[in-house]
Amino acid sequence: MQKFGIIGHPLGHTMSPILHNWGFKKCNLDAHYKTWPTEPEAVPAFMKRFRDEKIGGLSVTIPHKQTVMEYVDELAERAKTVGAVNTLYWNGKKLMGDNTDVAGVLGPIRMRDLHPTSALILGAGGASRAAVAACIELKVQSIAITNRTLSKAEELAKEFNIDVVAWDVRSKTKPDILINSTPLGMQGDMESMTPWDTNFKDIQLVFDLVYNPLQTRLLAEATREGCETIQGLEMFLYQGLEQFKLWAGKELDPEEARELLLKELGA
Ligand code: NAP
Repeated sequence: MQKFGIIGHPLGHTMSPILHNWGFKKCNLDAHYKTWPTEPEAVPAFMKRFRDEKIGGLSVTIPHKQTVMEYVDELAERAKTVGAVNTLYWNGKKLMGDNTDVAGVLGPIRMRDLHPTSALILGAGGASRAAVAACIELKVQSIAITNRTLSKAEELAKEFNIDVVAWDVRSKTKPDILINSTPLGMQGDMESMTPWDTNFKDIQLVFDLVYNPLQTRLLAEATREGCETIQGLEMFLYQGLEQFKLWAGKELDPEEARELLLKELGA
């Protein structure tokens, strides 16, 4: 049986095993996906084991997305653009590092018949990098980023050659696409919060990367104002489907996979 799995620290609850083990079963593959909680000091030994045991593929999450880059033989273009790896897979004898988070943002936007010319990304952490890379791939002409800590937005803007908007005036801008990559609205202390005010005029699409709850306050308010919306679950779904394709060479049905994840979330 071929082994697959995910490393991260702390590795909280993840839906990845549900998705991939379902996929393996559906495609009649003798493979199993498990969780490998891995502390930063243990990454070198894990990567040795990965090669020795020829583990089939790996999902990589916080805080190892940059660390693993030095252990691969080649980086895919998307991983280079984002500056982080969330997927390891074998291309023959070559260990590849890729980033499917970009596909996670790009896939659901591409499914809609939109031709955005401007985008604003809220937040400048790890997830925002995939959002920026996706907007670049979509050829959005004017891309801006805003963040509570201005210096982080400025660093990212310089790296990707995009614009910066000050956090305090963010809601005065009118982008075609608004992407939230902050945890505001997430289950827990931040659930009642939103990173945006109630002015959604001229915004075509609001994508909230937060996926728990599925319908955040931001998405509920955007829907009420007539915007098209995308839930964070779609990012998780599409990045996972892309991983599965890299590992198994097969495409899973997004509708069936979504149904599985919604069931897992009790929705
Ligand atoms: P991260 O690297 O920690 O970045 C968090 C960002 O949010 C930072 O820019 C931070 O600003 C900002 N922020 C945090 N608390 C804030 C607050 N109270 N007010 C304003 N801004 C605040 O996290 P990440 O990995 O990018 O993840 C961000 C969100 O995306 C999380 O909710 C996560 O669940 C979600 N996500 C979803 C998926 C998916 O598959 N759907 C994948 C990855 C991430 P400062 O720089 O000022 O601290």
